[in-house]
Amino acid sequence: VWSTVPQGPPDAILGITEAFKKDSNSEKINLGVGAYRDDKGKPYVLPSVKQAEQKVMQQNLDKEYAGITGVPDFTKAAALLAYGPDSAPLKEGRVAITQSISGTGALRIGGAFLQRFYPGAKAIYIPTPSWANHKAVFLDSGLEVKQYRYYDKSTIGLDFDGMVADIKAMPKGSIILLHACAHNPTGVDPTEEQWKKISEAVKEGDHYPFFDMAYQGFASGDTDKDAFALRYFVEQGHTPCLAQSFAKNMGLYGERVGAFSIVTATKEEKVKVDSQVKILVRPLYSNPPVHGARIASTILNDAELNKQWLGEVKDMAERIIKMRALLKENLEKLGSKRAWNHITDQIGMFAYTGLTAEQMTKLAEEHSVYATKDGRISVAGITSGNVGRLAEAIYKITG
Ligand code: PMP
Repeated sequence: VWSTVPQGPPDAILGITEAFKKDSNSEKINLGVGAYRDDKGKPYVLPSVKQAEQKVMQQNLDKEYAGITGVPDFTKAAALLAYGPDSAPLKEGRVAITQSISGTGALRIGGAFLQRFYPGAKAIYIPTPSWANHKAVFLDSGLEVKQYRYYDKSTIGLDFDGMVADIKAMPKGSIILLHACAHNPTGVDPTEEQWKKISEAVKEGDHYPFFDMAYQGFASGDTDKDAFALRYFVEQGHTPCLAQSFAKNMGLYGERVGAFSIVTATKEEKVKVDSQVKILVRPLYSNPPVHGARIASTILNDAELNKQWLGEVKDMAERIIKMRALLKENLEKLGSKRAWNHITDQIGMFAYTGLTAEQMTKLAEEHSVYATKDGRISVAGITSGNVGRLAEAIYKITG
């Protein structure tokens, strides 16, 4: 039956992991995967997560189904974390929220909801470049996917003018996807002043903002600061929707903890949106898994654990910021004539090095350093132990 099924291409990131595994060099470095590593290069389970898990276990809860929209204590706390305690729509009961299968699931519910109910054209604009999965998620949701300018190769920074010009050129009422913080793959974020102008342009065009916040707290180490763009847009009267992930900031990758929410204009709208989100989710996966949501809920709702967690998020963000500085410092010490400011200007898990695909191939083949061909490296994979060798390898291939 399946003889006509064409062979699909392998996943770009998984391919890197395969090549890395095959390499026998004991000093090989994997900077492909987007998962945090500690300074020994090991996967990291947050102590707050371990404690929360213990608390959950002690309660000896049953394994009954959650409702379609998940664990209410979790979604309530997730909304508060994102929108903030002063959020008018939250206080006024105008935010519809559902638990989701991590950030990807949230994006997918959002895509499907917009496809079904957004009154304007069913096209979503994503930045160039964007997280590799965005296009696939939205295409599979039945939306048309278009792009807006974002990254400027020549400065290895933000093409702010291009971005605003493209927003202004979009047909009125377009849907625009915005990375709330720690843009993946570039690590390039707008400044707060730039966000204000972006908000203005989005408003002028009567566009609909869809925020993807997969790294709250992970960029600056401060969950409020990282939510600036989202909260500012809401303050300005936008009614965005939002995909949240707890994969990175709680290290709950495989537990698949996330949420999708929509800010509505009125309480009545919220009730109707809620009902349709349920109708949409039910045939997709019926209801979400409970274990990870219980862990996240315990952390978010227990004052002491919450404080501890915020400290741990900050530690992770700061280790990454330190590795950026060390990489730049080592490259400069070696005498590199290139400017490496972008390494420390960028933020979040990834750095866009500006290296070409050929240089990335050389890095892998000659120096056993593995990362994606677009020049993106996961800074979370850099340690005090390997940063020296990494800088030497980059220096050797860039001169
Ligand atoms: N959006 C962006 C921009 C991401 O980088 C990621 C994680 N790589 C996600 C969403 C979603 O990831 P997850 O489904 O693991 O939460």
